[in-house]
Amino acid sequence: MEKEENIKIKKHNKIKKIILIIISIIIIAISSFAIYEIATVHNEYYIGEKNLQIPILVYHDIVDDESQVEYDYMQTTVETFEEQITGLMKLGYVPISYEDLVAYKNGEKAIPKWSFLITFDDGYTGVYENAYEIAKKYNIPMTSFLIDDTVGIPGYYTWEQAKEMNDSGLMHIYSHGLSHRQYDQETTETLVNETEQAYTSLVSNLQDDELLKVFTYPYGLYTEEGRQALENKGYIQNLTDNKINTSNNLDLSGLHRQYPLSNSALKIFLITQYRVIKYK
Ligand SMILES: [Zn+2]
Repeated sequence: MEKEENIKIKKHNKIKKIILIIISIIIIAISSFAIYEIATVHNEYYIGEKNLQIPILVYHDIVDDESQVEYDYMQTTVETFEEQITGLMKLGYVPISYEDLVAYKNGEKAIPKWSFLITFDDGYTGVYENAYEIAKKYNIPMTSFLIDDTVGIPGYYTWEQAKEMNDSGLMHIYSHGLSHRQYDQETTETLVNETEQAYTSLVSNLQDDELLKVFTYPYGLYTEEGRQALENKGYIQNLTDNKINTSNNLDLSGLHRQYPLSNSALKIFLITQYRVIKYK
């Protein structure tokens, strides 16, 4: 009897030891990964050197307070917005511009390991009044996509404000269409004509001859034929599909963007990691 008990105890101890070893290996692996990530967080890489995640955040209006928030994908309070951006920067994320992204894609520029882009659709007043202030406060690049025919009407910033932001080099202004149409319902010819007209209008109103051709589909709606046609015209195109760009598959003619909603910076980081794996 006593012998049997002894064997049982020995077996039990052996299992305990194995579990302990496995747990130690997992802890060592996770901490080495974390240490490596922290140690290299300020590194910059050229395209092809390392597969980077390049999330692009989609906001609409940045409002003064909670009472103005109707939908969390449409309105973000300036407080939440500032917390998200500064929180991401504390985690090691660095905001970059579309110009940086193009130069990176062309092999002309290295970008920070944890680069990300901040974008606003539609051209609301809150972008000028609130987001632009945050861009200046932290000296970081952001991008606003305006709709040509709503510029200056109530709720939307004016051409003068658009020019001021674009001239600052901090809030870049690009196109969200001549009007806010569902371009998957229009002919490719209409899409191309209107996108070209909207670009011409931007260049003349912003007095910026070097403006990149960047276009964001209203409602994120597009056809493959239309996307191809705009690519042939040299357009960088933004989708709204909640996927994450990775540098190994970086396609400037179909950039993925995701909604940060009112999530914390940590949650945005975790969702980003989840989506990288989900859409691989
Ligand atoms: Zn829109």
